[in-house]
Amino acid sequence: MSTTIQTEYLIIGAGIIGLGIARSIIAKIPNAKVIIIEKEDNLAKHSSGRSSGVLHAGFYYTADSLKAKFSVDGNKTLTEYCEKNNLPISKIGKLVVATNETELSGLEELERRGRINGCTVQLIDEKEVSEIDPNAKTFQKALWSPKTSTIDPIAICKSLANELITKGVQIIYNCAYIEKASESKNSASIKTSIGIIEANKLINTAGLYSDKIAKDYGWSQDYSIVPFKGLYLKYTKNKTDIKTNIYPVPNLNHTFLGVHFTKTVDGTIKIGPTATPAFWRGNYTWNSNFKLNELTQILSLESKLFLKNSFGFRDLAFEEMKKYSKKYLISLTSKIVKNLDPNGFTEFSRPGMRAQLVNTRTLEMIMDFIIEGDKTSVHILNAISPGFTCSLPFADYVVENYVLNK
Ligand SMILES: Cc1cc2nc3c(=O)[nH]c(=O)nc-3n(C[C@H](O)[C@H](O)[C@H](O)COP(=O)(O)OP(=O)(O)OC[C@H]3O[C@@H](n4cnc5c(N)ncnc54)[C@H](O)[C@@H]3O)c2cc1C
Repeated sequence: MSTTIQTEYLIIGAGIIGLGIARSIIAKIPNAKVIIIEKEDNLAKHSSGRSSGVLHAGFYYTADSLKAKFSVDGNKTLTEYCEKNNLPISKIGKLVVATNETELSGLEELERRGRINGCTVQLIDEKEVSEIDPNAKTFQKALWSPKTSTIDPIAICKSLANELITKGVQIIYNCAYIEKASESKNSASIKTSIGIIEANKLINTAGLYSDKIAKDYGWSQDYSIVPFKGLYLKYTKNKTDIKTNIYPVPNLNHTFLGVHFTKTVDGTIKIGPTATPAFWRGNYTWNSNFKLNELTQILSLESKLFLKNSFGFRDLAFEEMKKYSKKYLISLTSKIVKNLDPNGFTEFSRPGMRAQLVNTRTLEMIMDFIIEGDKTSVHILNAISPGFTCSLPFADYVVENYVLNK
């Protein structure tokens, strides 16, 4: 083991949240010594590099949530960031379409939330829908969100990292947090795969492992992550077959938006992501990153959710298992688009994994971001969608309220 590394601020995880927090610290204290450690050999290898790449407009979330508070501003800030740094952004908007009469009230609720949250949203009729995308299919009305766009999440993370490095932030790859070494009133010392690191303030932005790290510091007592895998299927026949992002009306009892069409910045059309309960945190494929202790703990929690059908978990699990069938997944698309060649859906693309937090006492799904901590450590839990969109103003909020003021 090498000698102890010392720093003022130590961030665990080089995803968009860790990078955003480092950026915010440096903006406020230009001479601060900030180190980010990352267990992988590069940044954005998990959620931040495997998302749908959508800059959400902010109409899904209730006004009292942090998600509502930061998505409108986050969308604006990241749009400006992409423009300023010549990063790709596709301002093609989004349609939320209904499939039947009962879903119309869902559209109205989204429009109401959007208006309260300060988004530009508009309920439009079928004629207006076909002017935006002749292939979109809806029942009577749809919600149009012109401010939704798609971006390249990895390009944004790389650009932020380059900016941080030029400002003196050190990013150490292949360096995994292993366990807490010691903690005093004024510092936290951690054991990593490259040795001990001591910091005045530890900031845990470890995504899928954030709950485990928080527990080492006495936080996340009532929470545990249940990972949900998101599979995407690519439509490669003709890039012009879809012109905008097309989403169904979501079930507002959980955080998933339903299988939708997104058009990435290079024009690729994807459907997904699914929301399949996974059995361990790195369960991207049937055997990747297998960890027996995680399987036991997550399976036990999922069994409870299944038996009680908490937040409709059992129904969700049955429905989601069907989506492993390409044929079934394709059949869902015919509900929201008029004409696509089923043979155009050729391959599954890289899956993502949602770090979804569940309350282990009440068995409720946690809908909003959770921040816990004290003077020596801060823990960002449940940074789920639209975490990428919210990242920059959310990072400022965390730094102002939890990093510098505690
Ligand atoms: C399928 C899917 C689709 C999504 N779509 C969208 C979207 O369209 N728009 C949107 O706004 N949001 C979307 N999101 C949400 C968004 O991607 C996340 O909110 C955001 O990426 C979270 O960032 P993060 O930095 O917290 O996590 P991550 O990107 O997962 O970063 C955490 C980092 O911590 C590292 N780490 C973990 N453990 C350790 C350890 N022990 N030691 C050192 N490092 C460690 C990991 O390797 C990882 O790099 C989506 C998410 C998923 C999964």
